[in-house]
Amino acid sequence: MPMPENAALSPTLTLAMELMRRPSVTPDDVGCQALMVERLERLGFHVERLPFGDVENFWAVRGHHGPVLAFAGHTDVVPSGPDVLWEHPPFEPCIDDDGMLCGRGAADMKGSLAAMITAVERFVTANPNHDGKIAFLITSDEEGPAIDGTRAVVEHLREAHERLDYCIVGEPSSTSELADTIKNGRRGSLGGVLHVKGVQGHVAYPHLARNPIHETTSALDALVREHWDGGNSFFPATSFQISNIRSGTGATNVIPGELEVIFNFRYSTEVTHTQLRERTEAILDAHGLDYRLDWTLNGEPFLTAKGELVEAALAGVEEVLGRRPELSTAGGTSDGRFIATLGAQVVELGPLNATIHKVNERVYAADLDTLSDIYEAILGRLFV
Ligand SMILES: [Zn+2]
Repeated sequence: MPMPENAALSPTLTLAMELMRRPSVTPDDVGCQALMVERLERLGFHVERLPFGDVENFWAVRGHHGPVLAFAGHTDVVPSGPDVLWEHPPFEPCIDDDGMLCGRGAADMKGSLAAMITAVERFVTANPNHDGKIAFLITSDEEGPAIDGTRAVVEHLREAHERLDYCIVGEPSSTSELADTIKNGRRGSLGGVLHVKGVQGHVAYPHLARNPIHETTSALDALVREHWDGGNSFFPATSFQISNIRSGTGATNVIPGELEVIFNFRYSTEVTHTQLRERTEAILDAHGLDYRLDWTLNGEPFLTAKGELVEAALAGVEEVLGRRPELSTAGGTSDGRFIATLGAQVVELGPLNATIHKVNERVYAADLDTLSDIYEAILGRLFV
């Protein structure tokens, strides 16, 4: 049985549930940002709404001098899929008998957004004349194309010469217990689509054809075997992975005329995307392929190896939970890749990621209150 409606909820859980009731599937914000803006304006934040295309974003700042710490996150969620697969309706949040807050966005990342807001509310109330500037960078397009969201806001901030020293991204970074892991960087992601040209023909007359499957396999083998780098103390070795190969007409007696391969690099800070492109093309050239290669740079790697923010985050978690988190760069890309280009120190710190993007997304309700305490402790370490 879900918790009764009238049971007392903490301010963080109340706000998280208000946000979760809004079905803000990318890029629709459905009033989530208005809710956040209202709370921040009440605290004296100056809010700049920055819509781009059909994406809602805002940048909010409080304070007049010194370093800038931004909380960053997204109000959009991934689609819920069929409601029948959910134990509780995805956009009717509830706390179940196990104390889990259930519903789309509980972990990714409306719970974090609520925890950020309530942390700042308590901090500003206790320290109305705090050092530094506190900021929020919020988008409704993290789960989608991510073009008119954080990336566009970052470009706006760059042009406006806005300073950004520290950024806490509320992505669900924890793996088995709250704040066991802080992400202090992410690998880069470089995608490629390789089109190899051959000459179509009859399998009985191979001298009149040119088989792109035969020509490509040895080149792909070389790419798979290549030692791209050895990684470093923060990143595993760069990996090359083929996700799709397509060729052939379906007929058993036809040598195909073309072949397409889709692949992806997840790469460390030991190589650049330019080096990866050049080395890939050199291998393809060495195998004499007739090809075209289309590249997509999904994200460059970033790393905050050490500094005030990492120290404050580690110490803040220890202050609240009595244990020290691990630093990690594992996982996919995040909006941190765009924010880091402003020269900011960036960490990602949020709830458990076990159920994100799944049906029955959920998070320990009490964890969100603790997360709010951690964010407040980090603010205290940087700005008091
Ligand atoms: Zn997210």
